[in-house]
Amino acid sequence: MNITVIGTGYVGLVSGICYAELGNHVVCVDKDLAKVETLQNGGIPIYEPGLQELSVKNMAAGRLSFTSDLNQAVKQSDLVILAVGTPSLPSGEANLSYIDQAAAEIAQAMNGYKIIAVKSTVPVGTNERVRNLIRSRTMERFDSISLPEFLREGSAVQDTLHPDRIVIGADSQSAVETIVELHRPLTDQIVVTDIRSAEMLKYASNAFLATKISFINEIANICEKVGADVTRVAEGMGYDKRIGPAFLKAGIGYGGSCFPKDTRALIQIAGHVDYEFKLLRAVVEVNQDQRMSVIRKLETIFDGELQGKTFAVWGLAFKPNTDDVRESPALEIIQYLVRSGAYVKAYDPIAIRNFQSMYGNNGVMWCDDALEAATGADALCLLTEWDEFVHMDLKMLQTILKKPILIDGRNVFKEDDLAETSFIYYSIGRPRLD
Ligand code: NAD
Repeated sequence: MNITVIGTGYVGLVSGICYAELGNHVVCVDKDLAKVETLQNGGIPIYEPGLQELSVKNMAAGRLSFTSDLNQAVKQSDLVILAVGTPSLPSGEANLSYIDQAAAEIAQAMNGYKIIAVKSTVPVGTNERVRNLIRSRTMERFDSISLPEFLREGSAVQDTLHPDRIVIGADSQSAVETIVELHRPLTDQIVVTDIRSAEMLKYASNAFLATKISFINEIANICEKVGADVTRVAEGMGYDKRIGPAFLKAGIGYGGSCFPKDTRALIQIAGHVDYEFKLLRAVVEVNQDQRMSVIRKLETIFDGELQGKTFAVWGLAFKPNTDDVRESPALEIIQYLVRSGAYVKAYDPIAIRNFQSMYGNNGVMWCDDALEAATGADALCLLTEWDEFVHMDLKMLQTILKKPILIDGRNVFKEDDLAETSFIYYSIGRPRLD
C-alpha cells in the first residue's frame, strides 16, 4: 500500500517505519523541519531501541521517506494515518487542535478515494469530527476509521511488530477489509468494532492499567504500615489468572505522555455526558500523591529539614528505555527538593537533555554518570529503573555517598543485594532495611 503517516513522534514514527518493514511504501510527514532533516539523514529524533536500524534499512530499500510536504504525500497515498499529539488542555480535555489542523490539510490534498485513519488517542466522537471537517471541504470520496495505538515507549518496535491485538473501528466493510489485510502479517487478533467503541476502548485500556498501578500503590502504602512486603503480595496475587502479574509493581506512580493525560481526558469525556467517573478520579489522586512518597521518606529521615542537604537523583525519564520525560515523577520530586532549599545532583542515561529543556536549570547539577551524581550526597533517590542502576555495585556505592541512605522508588533491589552493605534502605511498600 501507499501510506502517509502524519506526525513523526513516538507513535507515528514507529508505526510508519514498521509499515515500511512490512513491504508498504510509507511517507512520514512532520511539520517540525529539524525532525524531518534528522530523519532524512538516517537519524532518529527519539530514543527507541531498534528503530534507527529499521529506518535506515527501509530507506535504503526505497520504501520509506520523510518530508514536511503533507500535500504531496497525501496525494500519493491510499491510506492516510493521523498520529499527531493530543496533549491535555488545562481542563484535562484532549487538545484536538493538531488533529483539526492535520484534517484540514488532508482535505486540501484530497485527489481521489482514500482511507483516513486516526491513530492518535482521541475522545469519542473525534473520528466523526474529522470526517465532517474533511467532508465539508472536499467532494472526494473517503472512509474514516479509528485505528488506536497500544505500543509502549521503550519496546515500541517489538510491540508494533508483535501486537497483542489490532483494533479497527469502522463503518465501511471495504475499508475494514483493506486495514485487516494490512495488519494480517502482524497478528490474527484483530478486533473490529464501530468507531465510537474503538475510541472508547483505547481510553478504557489505559484507564484500567492506571487503575492497577494506583491499586497496588495503595496496597503498598498499607503494607508499609502493617509490616508486609508488597512485592510478595503482588507476586501471590499475580498467579491468579483472573488478576495476572502485569502492572502490579508498586513504585512512585505512573507518568509519561499517555496515562496521565488519558485518565484526565476520560474523566472529562464522562463528565460531558453527566457521568462522574469516581473510580478514575481516585486513581489520578492516588497517583499524584504517590510521587510524594519519596519526599515523605526523606522528611522522616532528615526530621523535616531538607534545606542545605544534597540529594542524588537517579533517573529522569518516566520509565526506562525511553528519553520521554513528559509528566515524569522526577519533575515534581526535584521541584519540591529545590523549593525546600536542597541541592540536587541528577543523572539519567538518556533523558537529561529532554528533562533540562522541560525543567530549566534552577538548583540542579546535571551529572555525566551515576557515580558522579551520588558522590558526596546525603541520600540517593532512585526514580527510574534503568538497567545500569539495577546492576550497580552497592558496596562501592555506599563508600561514595556522604551517608549510605538509599530511597528506591522502583523497588529494584532485593534484600540479598543489600546484604553486607551498611545501607539504610527505604523502598515502596516493603520493610525498611538497615
Ligand atoms: P508526539 O508529540 O511525540 O508527536 C507528534 C508529532 O506530530 C510531532 O512531531 C509534531 O510535530 C507532529 N505534528 C503535529 N501536527 C502536525 C501536522 N499538522 N502535520 C505534520 N506533523 C504534525 O506524540 P506521540 O507520543 O507520538 O503521540 C501521538 C498520539 O498517539 C497521541 O494521541 C498519543 O496519546 C497517542 N499514543 C501515544 C503513545 C506513546 O507511547 N507515546 C502510545 C499510544 C498512543
